[in-house]
Amino acid sequence: MKFLISIVLFTFLQTCSQSNQPIKTSSMENKDAKNNPYYSRTDTTKLYISNEEWKKILPADLYAVAREAATERAFTGKYNEFDEVGEYYCAVCGNHLFRSTSKFASSCGWPSFFEADKEGVYYKRDLTYGMDRVEVLCKRCDSHLGHVFDDGPKPTGLRYCMNSVSLEFAPDLQN
Ligand SMILES: [Zn+2]
Repeated sequence: MKFLISIVLFTFLQTCSQSNQPIKTSSMENKDAKNNPYYSRTDTTKLYISNEEWKKILPADLYAVAREAATERAFTGKYNEFDEVGEYYCAVCGNHLFRSTSKFASSCGWPSFFEADKEGVYYKRDLTYGMDRVEVLCKRCDSHLGHVFDDGPKPTGLRYCMNSVSLEFAPDLQN
């Protein structure tokens, strides 16, 4: 009997001490993407994930744009009229794409940048819908981000016309 009591007491004490453990958090990872095991803002390893797999992980609106090259409606995106200072990452995989200093106010209805992170994106000629355009894709996960046009401001003359849903903004940390 005495033995049993000591076991119960021991278990009780152990449970108590466990509940006092601090909750572990990771500030580098995006909380919204916690169901996405491929998401990382630090790991730049190339991803080879099937659309079948992405469909299980991504929200429907992001899947449609990123994996099926849909375009969100103009003037509806969360970053269209947005000028906070920080970094923009791929909403699918966390790869770095743009710095806020390259964002400019464009009247086209989508967030626009004049320069992309060279390590973040690559390009493909896009002849769909009877147009000749240059598609912009994420170098890490091959997701569709938007298109780039040559009517942008100096110094590059480029206009990266992006879908807000494909982007994820992280503000600079306060000093
Ligand atoms: Zn990506």
